[in-house]
Amino acid sequence: KIAVFSCKPYDKRTLENVAESESGIEFHFFESRLSLETMTLAKGFDGVSCFVNDDLNRDVILELAALNIKCIALRCAGYNNVDLVSARANGISVFHVPDYSPTSVAEHAVALILALNRKTHRAYNRVKDNNFALEGLLGFNLEGKTVACIGTGRIGQAFCRIMKGFGCHVLCYDISPNDQLIEMGCEYTDLHDIYRKADIISLHCPLNASTHHLINERTLKEMKDGIMIINTSRGALVNAQEAIDNIYTGKIGYLGLDVYEQEGNIFFEDMSDHIVYDSVFQLLLTFPNVIVTGHQGYFTDIALQHIAETTLNNLISFKNG
Ligand code: NAD
Repeated sequence: KIAVFSCKPYDKRTLENVAESESGIEFHFFESRLSLETMTLAKGFDGVSCFVNDDLNRDVILELAALNIKCIALRCAGYNNVDLVSARANGISVFHVPDYSPTSVAEHAVALILALNRKTHRAYNRVKDNNFALEGLLGFNLEGKTVACIGTGRIGQAFCRIMKGFGCHVLCYDISPNDQLIEMGCEYTDLHDIYRKADIISLHCPLNASTHHLINERTLKEMKDGIMIINTSRGALVNAQEAIDNIYTGKIGYLGLDVYEQEGNIFFEDMSDHIVYDSVFQLLLTFPNVIVTGHQGYFTDIALQHIAETTLNNLISFKNG
């Protein structure tokens, strides 16, 4: 018996569609985020299934262990929201869905680049106001531009392939370079070289101690004026306040964020009267050259299907030992 937390109607639909009665896995669905406050909902279950916004910190893990929960089945790729050390120490197995559809997130990063460049969001608002003026909407050709990909795992590789297709010069940084990208003509280099040369930087590395606030006042200083930064990975890769400071100066020309450091308080709350905006987030929404989306990079039909299937398979293999 599995308690599914942070469960939206589309999660419920796809999990119900893939779940077969003979699998022996029984799902119970809860809209709430898993937290110390909602912990009692997990009582009587063998495992929990969680998403990126469930904060599985040490205290929550200890409470889960006290409820005799033996398994956490994440419905996402990243697992930076789980205290893995505490989970291991308490005999709780943690599963994630590493490879549900890298293309979905890569395509969303590209969508942000295209929308920011061609100012699609502003153009559409103008047309709705019967304003067909083009002043202020000038874009640039992506062909020939230098695009950097930081983190060339599954999503980063898909991103690089698309950008190569646009005729961009693709620079890459990763702690372990990928041979296929090199064969394709992508060039691995160090971060300083990327900051110096790139017109666009897209982040596809995980959030960890070495990548926390990778985009900050100091690294931005090394970048070209008018740089475009795209983050579809994890919010805390970007120091949002320092990014804002650099939008004011023109150092950042374009900022596309699908993720935000405090997104757990904002993106996953459907009822507007419950939304807890922080002042930095509010400020981000005021710039015409910033586009924020609410962690929707993964959100395609294929990805939802793969997430549900892999979550079920993870739970079946856990059940079978
Ligand atoms: P992945 O594990 O396949 O790739 C991550 C890559 O980053 C690896 O190649 C790794 O070597 C590299 N890396 C690790 N530390 C690094 C560092 N310090 N500097 C540079 N590179 C480093 O992961 P993925 O499936 O490509 O996902 C990437 C990230 O995208 C995930 O960690 C997750 O946070 C995020 N994500 C976002 C969404 C969304 O909806 N927006 C969906 C899925 C995943």
